[in-house]
Amino acid sequence: MKVTIIGTGYVGLVTGVSLSEMGHEVVCVGRNKEKIGEINDGKSPFFEPGLDELIKKNIEKKLLRASNDLAACVKDSQVIIIAVGTPTVDNKIDLTEIKTATAQVGKLLSSNSLYQVVVVKSTVVPGTTESVVLPILEEESGKKAGEFGVSMTPEFLREGNAVEDALNPDRIVIGAYDEKTGKIVKELYKKAECPILITNLQTAELIKYAANSFFATLISYSNEIAKIAEKVGSIDIVDVWEGVHLDLRLSPMVHGKRISPGFLGYLFSGCGYGGSCFPKDTKALLHFAKDIGVNPQLLQSVVDINASQPERMIGLLKSEYSSLENKKIAVLGLTFKPNTDDIRESPALTLIKSLQKEKAVVVAHDPQAYKKTVPEALKALGIELVSSVANAIKNADALLLVTSWDEYRHIQPQMFKDLMKKPLIIDGRRIYDKKKLNEAGVLYKGIGYKGMNYAEL
Ligand code: NAD
Repeated sequence: MKVTIIGTGYVGLVTGVSLSEMGHEVVCVGRNKEKIGEINDGKSPFFEPGLDELIKKNIEKKLLRASNDLAACVKDSQVIIIAVGTPTVDNKIDLTEIKTATAQVGKLLSSNSLYQVVVVKSTVVPGTTESVVLPILEEESGKKAGEFGVSMTPEFLREGNAVEDALNPDRIVIGAYDEKTGKIVKELYKKAECPILITNLQTAELIKYAANSFFATLISYSNEIAKIAEKVGSIDIVDVWEGVHLDLRLSPMVHGKRISPGFLGYLFSGCGYGGSCFPKDTKALLHFAKDIGVNPQLLQSVVDINASQPERMIGLLKSEYSSLENKKIAVLGLTFKPNTDDIRESPALTLIKSLQKEKAVVVAHDPQAYKKTVPEALKALGIELVSSVANAIKNADALLLVTSWDEYRHIQPQMFKDLMKKPLIIDGRRIYDKKKLNEAGVLYKGIGYKGMNYAEL
C-alpha cells in the first residue's frame, strides 16, 4: 500500500520505518527541510537505538522517504496517517497541530477519486476523531464520511525501545468509523504477528489513555509507599518491592522458572515519570474526565504525587545541608529515561530549577541529551553541561542521580570518593548498591531510603 505519514517525530518516523519494513511504500511528511534531508540520507534526526540502520535500509529499498510536499504524497496514498504532536497546555490537550494537519489533508482529499483512509495515530482524548477530525475532513474535502475512511489507531511504542516495539508490536488497536475503514487498516497491518483489536473510534482513543495512566499509577503508587518507608526510617523501599514482587500473582512460575512481567518495572520507587507521554496524557485525561463530569480522584493523586517527586530529592539533599547556596551539585542524567535523547518533562528539569532557586551551582552530564544539539529547554536553564561524569562530579558537594543510564550504573564507588568534595549520592532511580558505597566511604540516600548521617559512616 502507499502510505503518507504526517510528522517526522518519534511516532511518525518509527511508524514509517515499521510500515516500510512490512513492504509498504511510505513517505513521511515533515516541515523542516534539514530533518527531511537527514532522513533521506539514512539518518534519524533524533537518537533512537537501531533506527538509523532501518531508515537507511528502507531508503535504499525505495520503500521509505521523507518529503515536505504533502499534496504530491497524499495524491496517490491509500492511507494517510496523522502523527503530529498533541501537547498538554494549561493541563488540557492542545489540538492545534491535529486540526492544522487534518485541514491540510481534507483539502487534498477533495481533488481525488481514490478511496482514502485517514488514520489518527496521535494520542487524542475520546471523541476527538469523531467530533473534531471527521468534521474538519468533511468540511475541507466537501465529501461525506464513508466516501473516505477515518480511523484512530493509537501508538504504544516506548522511546528507547521504539524500533523493537514497532517491529514486534504486542497488539494493534484499530478504531474504525465503519467496517470498510477497519478492513483497510487491518490490511495495512496484515504482516503483524500480534492480536488486532477492532473497536469504535472512542474506545481506541481511551485504550491509549487507560494504558498510559495504568503505568503512571503504578509509579505514583510505588512513590507513595516510598514516602511511608522514608518516614519510618529503618526501611529501604527496594527491599519492600522485592518482597512484593515475589507474590506469585505478580511474578508467576512458568515451566519451573519465575518470570518477571514487564509491568513490574513500573512498580519501583524513583524520582517520578517524565517524557512526552505519561505526564501529558495523565493530565489530559484528568482534565477531560472533569470536563465530562467525572471526578477522577485516583488520577488526580497520580499526577500530584508525580509532581512532588523531584522535590523529595531536594529534601534528601537538604537533610545533609542546611543551605545549598554555592554548593556544587552534580546532576547525572537529563533525559526522562535511558536510551533516548528526549528531555521532555524530565524530572531533571524540575529538579535543576529547584536547585537554582536554592542558589546551588548545577553541573550536569547526560550521554545523549545535548550530544547533537543543545535543546532550548536546556539552554534556558543556563547550567554547565559537561562531557564526562568525572567533570560533573569533580569537587561536587553532592550528586543527584536522575536517569538510570548504563554508564552510571558501572561507576566504581572509589571514583565518587576520590573526585567529589563531599561524597554524597542521592539516588533518584535506586541503581546503586548502598553497602558498597558506604564501605567506600560514600554517603548514600535515595528515594525510599533516607540513609544515614555522615557521623554514622
Ligand atoms: P514529536 O513532537 O516528536 O513529533 C511530531 C512531529 O510532527 C514534529 O516533528 C512536528 O514538526 C510535526 N508536525 C506537526 N504538524 C505538522 C504538519 N502539519 N505537517 C508536517 N509535520 C507536522 O511527537 P511524537 O513524540 O512523535 O508524538 C506524536 C503523537 O504520538 C503525540 O500525540 C504523542 O502523544 C503520541 N505518542 C507518542 C509516543 C512517544 O513515545 N513519543 C508514543 C505513543 C504515542
